[in-house]
Amino acid sequence: MLSKKDTQYAVDQMGEMFPEAECELVHENPFELLVAVMLSAQCTDALVNRVTPALFAKYKTPEDYVAVDLEELQTDIRSIGLYRNKAKNIKKMAQSLIDDHGGEVPAAREALEALAGVGRKTANVVTSVAFDIPAIAVDTHVERVSKRLGICRWKDSVKQVEETLEKKIYKQDWSDAHHRMIFFGRYHCKAQNPQCQQCPLAFMCREGKKRLKGVEEHG
Ligand code: SF4
Repeated sequence: MLSKKDTQYAVDQMGEMFPEAECELVHENPFELLVAVMLSAQCTDALVNRVTPALFAKYKTPEDYVAVDLEELQTDIRSIGLYRNKAKNIKKMAQSLIDDHGGEVPAAREALEALAGVGRKTANVVTSVAFDIPAIAVDTHVERVSKRLGICRWKDSVKQVEETLEKKIYKQDWSDAHHRMIFFGRYHCKAQNPQCQQCPLAFMCREGKKRLKGVEEHG
């Protein structure tokens, strides 16, 4: 398993590779970000960004989402995967913002997580990106990269991955580390075709060592 020092080194290297790493979901305020993150579950940010300009022009407040018929909202987001459920959840979330938070998006992770339709990952992204509160949201990229590198165990749950990353990365770096790991996973340590031969972390990566050994043996 990678030590705290090695983990910090890996995250720093990812920062060298992707200094521009940041949230790729286009938004102008915490409410738009919350909707965009909810739409992005099991869907690419690029696809969400194609839908949100028209969506955000039409729906500006939680009241707008509550007022619209479910079918109409579903039609507005139908090019996005799981759109039926996502529309339902967005309407529920909007209603809970009105009921419990005066129509404003709360900053605290616990309060976000308590909103209908909002899970831990979404809450972490919003709290970190919109409110600058350190948090590590574990998505598919963060989980894969953490496990391949050996920061976490293969069998760890998403919650355990998050807890381990919080222990092994300095708190002031949590939010940056989250974005760097996403970019690193999205563009370099890809699910299907990780670029181990050009990876500056291969020397410390358990998965990379295995893959490169395979290349040597077969090459
Ligand atoms: Fe990913 Fe390969 Fe780099 Fe390991 S060596 S981090 S598996 S690209």
